Amino acid sequence: MKMRAARFYQVGKDLKIEKVAVPKVGPNEALLKIKGCGVCHTDIHFIYEGLLKPGKIPQIMGHEPSGEIVELGSHVQDHNVGDKVLIHFYQSCGICHYCLIEKENLCLNLKHFGFNVDGGYSEYAVVGSRHLVKLPEEISYDACILVDSGVTSYHAITKVAKLKPGETTMIMGAGGVGLMLIQIAKLSGAEVFAIDVNEEKLKLAKKVGADKAINSRKKDVFDEVMNFTDKTGVDAVFETVGFENTYEISLNCLSRGGRLVIIGYQPENYLPRIHPIQLIVKEASILTSRAGTHGELKKVVDLLRREKIQLTVTDKFKLEQVNEALSKLSNGEIIGRAIIVP
Ligand SMILES: [Zn+2]
Ligand SMILES: [Zn+2]
Repeated sequence: MKMRAARFYQVGKDLKIEKVAVPKVGPNEALLKIKGCGVCHTDIHFIYEGLLKPGKIPQIMGHEPSGEIVELGSHVQDHNVGDKVLIHFYQSCGICHYCLIEKENLCLNLKHFGFNVDGGYSEYAVVGSRHLVKLPEEISYDACILVDSGVTSYHAITKVAKLKPGETTMIMGAGGVGLMLIQIAKLSGAEVFAIDVNEEKLKLAKKVGADKAINSRKKDVFDEVMNFTDKTGVDAVFETVGFENTYEISLNCLSRGGRLVIIGYQPENYLPRIHPIQLIVKEASILTSRAGTHGELKKVVDLLRREKIQLTVTDKFKLEQVNEALSKLSNGEIIGRAIIVP
């Protein structure tokens, strides 16, 4: 049997839509019909920039998938054909040091769905059944965007920043991850300031719960944040943009004891050269956050089921339009999150 898939060959070149063999299902695996796959800025780092390198050439990209189980391996007992599922894209080994200390997102033998094993810009995918998370029947396949943007936000807020009720937080960038960060930060009881250069994105940021939305092209972010916080600054900043000047603004806006959590990055953009005393005086921390765990994906699915968060899917593209979707994302023309529906 053949399927259509979007495969990466070369940096700076379009993904090629090709007919390839549907992969065979191993005893502990499931074959999914892909129903949605979020288009993430990390794809840009692979396909346009070459900042990240895929595990093989050609590589089926796409790491934010949902699907329906259409076939199960002989040993799989905990899922059924017909189940709606998400694929946890950080596929840990379960036995290395980091897996055993509940840091499976730092697994030494990680398989990344859509990075180094074939991903979700495809009609079908095979995946180890233990990496699946069941979706309740009432939830749409658009929930694919929880796989990366939801999990990454949940992990950064609860595990890395440990945001507490009553704290103030700034979300730098109201893109796919930023919109999830806003919602989960609000659930944590924090006051949320969203920063972006695009009015449409800021409107959506307010709609999903941001208390203040600041357009950094029109207003001085530092002045605004100081006004809103009685001149103390914010307790936590989540940086999803990754330019030298956005890192700098983020550091400047931190309160004493504040923490900067870095999620976004760009080629040839480095952290500002700062003297340690600038951090020590404030006892400020610079932290980083990397994706999240299977358990965290289950928790964000549960938040969606209880209508505590909403999906911000704003654009849908066919598999054949994947390059158009990527180019629009790269140009800042996607408000919310785009998904590919193969
Ligand atoms: Zn991603
Ligand atoms: Zn491991």
